[in-house]
Amino acid sequence: MIHFPVSDLHCDLLSYLATVPGASIHKTEDIGVALPYMLAGNVKHQVLAIYTPTQVGSASLFQRQLAAYQLLIDQKTFYPVTDYSTAQDIVTSRHIGVTLAIENASGLCEEEEDLTVAFKRLDGVLDSCEHLFYIGLTHHPENRFGGGNYSENVGLKEDGKRLLDYLSGRGIAVDLAHTSDRLAHDILNYLDAQSLQVPVIASHSNFRFLWDHVRNLPTELIKELIRRKGLIGMNFLRAYIHPSKPEQLLEHILWGLKPEFAADYLAFGADFFYRYAITRPDRIPLFFAEHENASKYPEILAELSGRGVDQAALAKLSYKNVLSYIKRNWRSATQ
Ligand SMILES: [Zn+2]
Repeated sequence: MIHFPVSDLHCDLLSYLATVPGASIHKTEDIGVALPYMLAGNVKHQVLAIYTPTQVGSASLFQRQLAAYQLLIDQKTFYPVTDYSTAQDIVTSRHIGVTLAIENASGLCEEEEDLTVAFKRLDGVLDSCEHLFYIGLTHHPENRFGGGNYSENVGLKEDGKRLLDYLSGRGIAVDLAHTSDRLAHDILNYLDAQSLQVPVIASHSNFRFLWDHVRNLPTELIKELIRRKGLIGMNFLRAYIHPSKPEQLLEHILWGLKPEFAADYLAFGADFFYRYAITRPDRIPLFFAEHENASKYPEILAELSGRGVDQAALAKLSYKNVLSYIKRNWRSATQ
């Protein structure tokens, strides 16, 4: 079994902990990123996204998840990874490093609130948590910042531009996982036109040329993420892989690991969330058994090894690409 440390770019553990009655980090029956699974999978760095839908009450839901994050890092099992120095610790630490992120900026500012509230809340988050890995402007629908995955004709709005202005120079990425294609292109064009310094990643998305879904990345955006030295986190949800072929996840990863493609930018972004959050029959099972929880990373790496991927490439996928990204984009501890 291959036991590289694992860094994973996306899960919804905080949403589960903040909203499900009786939720616990130990409940393997509830969520694929429960602590026993993380320990079995050698997860050493987990990005914890605050997910809020676009609706009245998103801001208070955001605060509850922020409180859940604070409770987690108060436990000795977890420690915050907020700069390159603490990030390097993931290679040797017995504990699990965690970094906060934001999935959908509606949690920072509801549709009817004044935009200045968003920046006050962000200042507050950064004061208490020191760093954010990424912010996604949208989720599936459109919001005041732009168009989500299912609002394909909506691009970047004025409030989205102001948020990108705020992010410039802070080492916080903008996440393209839940943008419409138009929003993604608008973001890239705006960053370039304004010469903003904002890293760009896709924290939990696969390749659309291998599975045609709006949550997966079209080829021109994949090329942009590579050109900009971002990250692409491979998503384990069945809906973004294939309806019936679990081995298709390996095809996404094998494509990504091609040296001329995304070998230096590929990572995991498994997307584990509360097992009963989606009950639509066509979405069940949410995950294939082969990658249904965080204990499966070593088996996935072993499968890839069996398909001819060398140890150096596996180490990049597992954690080294994320560390290299952090070194390029985050401050060092002494700054
Ligand atoms: Zn998501």
